[in-house]
Amino acid sequence: MIWYPYTQMKTMKAPYEIIDAQGVYLYTKDQKLIDSVSSWWSVIHGYKHPELDTAIETQLKTFSHVMLGGLTHQAVQKLSDKLQSWLPGDLDYCFFSDSGSVAVEVALKMALQYYINQGDTKRTMVLALEHAYHGDTFKTMEIGDDEDYHFVLKAYGKSKNVIHIPTEIEALEKAFQEYHDCLNCFIVEPLLQGAGGMRMYDISFLQRARELCDQYGVFLIFDEVATGFGRTGNRFVSDLVLPDILVLGKALTGGYIGHAVTVANHKVYDGFYSDDQTHAFMHGPTFMGNALACSVALKSIELFESQDYLSKIQRIEQITRRELEHFSDPRVKEVRIMGGCVCMEVYDADTIKGYQQFAYKRGVFSRPFLNYLYAMVPYVIGEAELVQVLDTMKAWFR
Ligand SMILES: *Cc1c(COP(=O)(O)O)cnc(C)c1O
Repeated sequence: MIWYPYTQMKTMKAPYEIIDAQGVYLYTKDQKLIDSVSSWWSVIHGYKHPELDTAIETQLKTFSHVMLGGLTHQAVQKLSDKLQSWLPGDLDYCFFSDSGSVAVEVALKMALQYYINQGDTKRTMVLALEHAYHGDTFKTMEIGDDEDYHFVLKAYGKSKNVIHIPTEIEALEKAFQEYHDCLNCFIVEPLLQGAGGMRMYDISFLQRARELCDQYGVFLIFDEVATGFGRTGNRFVSDLVLPDILVLGKALTGGYIGHAVTVANHKVYDGFYSDDQTHAFMHGPTFMGNALACSVALKSIELFESQDYLSKIQRIEQITRRELEHFSDPRVKEVRIMGGCVCMEVYDADTIKGYQQFAYKRGVFSRPFLNYLYAMVPYVIGEAELVQVLDTMKAWFR
């Protein structure tokens, strides 16, 4: 039987069975639902997009997968060329993997080995944010800071390798003063912390982080698995502040297949480029550079550019602000809006219990968690559908 994610199987209510999906809609036997979470924030072009379907079908007729160990192919070459030219600065070296968690592991391993290759074994500490979420594998759990996901790590006691700070410049400066000798990297979900509660913060924090990282030789890693491809209203937050290593996942393939990429800059890459075999990066997920994933990712990026997705996202943000301008409720602590993300944080988690069924009846699929009722819609959503999603959220409080 299926063991479902983040769920107590004993009390779980039956999940909705999806029998078809098209555009922003999911279909069950008896209901048509706007997917207001874009299948965990990934399906930015909606379902069954004709051009994405064609890209993957065309590749399928050639081959679906060959490994990257000793082999290469057009689909992965084209995607890496595209990313190299499309991504900002000297983020040029693409290491592919099958999921966001693994891609974060890859980023952390790169940052760590960079210094080990230089004979410096002291820089082992990771600076991260409070409420951070970077995935569900062990190292990503360790740098994450959300008890609700990762309490299992308590069995090991508090980690000596990770420091968590709030998104305040004062705390940032203090952490660098205190730990800069042993700091290896600073990893953040830039501007928008997703699974930790759709928390939003200011770019000035990241600008100061960049300065401090430069000053002390600490790598800055942006986990843009959730924020990448427009979610914050920026193409990438990396367009505003340039990290040393960038991690992309979720929307990379338009939500078609699991794939992710860790993109390193020249400095990081040069730290491995050597006559010494032991300086090589010893990592290789079986399905890295999967041809179906790469072909659909390339088409997804082409659509993002040619259809001017940034203006679509701007429109989503404008409509969202307009619709929620006069909304308030004593049970709601804060309404947060950034780009294609809106979140109502409630004081008491019980306030939003039952919302999913309520939304289902109104033709919206939603999956609130903890104290957060949120929407991250596909960017192709029409105004009427977006208003329906927002009206449903407001209606719950009436
Ligand atoms: C979802 C997410 C991950 C993990 O990605 P998976 O593909 O689920 O392993 C990592 N970092 C952030 C910021 C995420 O939102």
